[in-house]
Amino acid sequence: MKRRKSRPVNLGGFIVGGDAPVSVQSMTNTDTRDAAATRKQIDSLVQAGCEIVRVAVPDLEAVRALPVIRKDLSVPLVADIHFDHRLALAAIEAGVDGLRINPGNIGGHERVAAVVKAAAGRNIPIRIGVNAGSLEKELLQDGQVTPQAMTESALRHVRLLENMGFYEIKISLKASDVPLMVNAYRMLAQKVDYPLHIGVTEAGTPFVGSIKSSVGIGILLWEGLGDTVRVSLTGDPVLEVRAAYEILKSLGLRRRGVELVSCPTCGRTQIDLVRIAEQVEERLAGLDMPLKVAVMGCVVNGPGEARHADVGIAGGKGEGLLFRKGQVIRRVPENELVEELMKEIDNIVIGGYRNEGFGNAGADPAGNSGGS
Ligand code: SF4
Repeated sequence: MKRRKSRPVNLGGFIVGGDAPVSVQSMTNTDTRDAAATRKQIDSLVQAGCEIVRVAVPDLEAVRALPVIRKDLSVPLVADIHFDHRLALAAIEAGVDGLRINPGNIGGHERVAAVVKAAAGRNIPIRIGVNAGSLEKELLQDGQVTPQAMTESALRHVRLLENMGFYEIKISLKASDVPLMVNAYRMLAQKVDYPLHIGVTEAGTPFVGSIKSSVGIGILLWEGLGDTVRVSLTGDPVLEVRAAYEILKSLGLRRRGVELVSCPTCGRTQIDLVRIAEQVEERLAGLDMPLKVAVMGCVVNGPGEARHADVGIAGGKGEGLLFRKGQVIRRVPENELVEELMKEIDNIVIGGYRNEGFGNAGADPAGNSGGS
């Protein structure tokens, strides 16, 4: 897939755009003023692979929490600010690595200029976050939000910043309507070379929202558009990070964790495969290595799929076959299958999977050397 060439933007040492891999970001949903709770959530996000974290900064008390939140943080911290330019200035002063503002609601020209000057002074990029739900009224066509209107809104803000000599810009054009956001990003990508932060906003609860996000984000990525991804879910933001990686992994753009393939089960299944697959998924959650694990219900497709995996199981009647690189290594009773599979995986980890030639899943095709 040929990716759109975008201008690189530096976020506290972390590059978005240019040749950098498509990065994964999320936003905390704790009260930012509660620095301990916010930092705890950020640590969980980072553990899950989140590469840029954004926090809402609604007042000065939240600004005061920023240095505590940011202390020894391994990923860039972005402050999300609306309406009050003084909060943006204070957040810059507090040491954030990036700002997300909507220049249209931050005040007049002088206020925007003050924020831009302060950001330029600290080499802090600004994301122009256009949202279909808060578009300038005069841009609507018969009261409707259109891709043209969203693109024009972004371009207005871009020109405003460019006229101040500021080019450290990222842009997002989010809508909850997938065709609208896809067409808006496509249109904008023809007009500017700034990196694009892509996502479907207010996508919904984890199940529905992940599907909707996968469609919208997936279409754009497949067309080579998008430099950083945020999946927006009503729920634990760690799920956003997991969903984002699954989208990127399914297109071969990033690799993370272990690749688990499992069959959908059918009338041939004679073991409790759903439970087994869930347990295996849970046990593998913390492991990040190029390993493919197959959990299959029977011997019809089971051994075939297991053969392409580093390790796998194929169910039988009350038992299963354990495979390693396509070879049956032993027959295991159903209630010991998960444990035996995990033991085999442990052996691979301990034995050094690289030396053994494991890793059908391959290394992260994008790599990520831009991390700070
Ligand atoms: S692998 Fe076997 S049990 Fe699973 S869906 Fe295919 S035929 Fe059914």
